[in-house]
Amino acid sequence: MHTCVFCEIVAGRGTASIFYEDDLVLGFMDINPVTPGHALVISKAHAPRLADLDEATGRHLFTVAQRTAAAIRSSGVTCEGINLFVADGEAAGQEVDHVHLHVIPRYRGDGFRIAANWGNRPSRAELDLVAAQIADGYRAL
Ligand code: 5GP
Ligand code: ZN
Repeated sequence: MHTCVFCEIVAGRGTASIFYEDDLVLGFMDINPVTPGHALVISKAHAPRLADLDEATGRHLFTVAQRTAAAIRSSGVTCEGINLFVADGEAAGQEVDHVHLHVIPRYRGDGFRIAANWGNRPSRAELDLVAAQIADGYRAL
């Protein structure tokens, strides 16, 4: 039987350092923090991918992540900035197949890197083309 580590935490069978809970979401500390204070906000209901999550829960997830960022900023945790991060799908680096939002405190010299080519400069025509493709995607929803 496949067991989900985050569902185990929601059910109280897995241990976690919890800082927030309501009917829809749970907030707890990442077990492998990239910086001190690295938090996760998860849906209580098991949804492997963003597309599996109902939008109302998705809105609430973001709201709680936004509040978590504010809470971190007004806590004693070292924090000069915050990154919110979602890995949706294996190719995007998702390791736990249960939707979660990372809330990561940042400070100068923290060593956090997202390795990517940030120097691409496509033409306006190329940008318009991909925008049209995504607009088609919207129409297909
Ligand atoms: P992903 O790569 O899927 O976006 O990130 C999964 C995150 O969950 C990782 O940062 C990892 O450290 C964290 N994680 C994995 N298993 C556990 C666990 O059992 N407890 C906690 N608190 N975090 C976990
Ligand atoms: Zn789960």
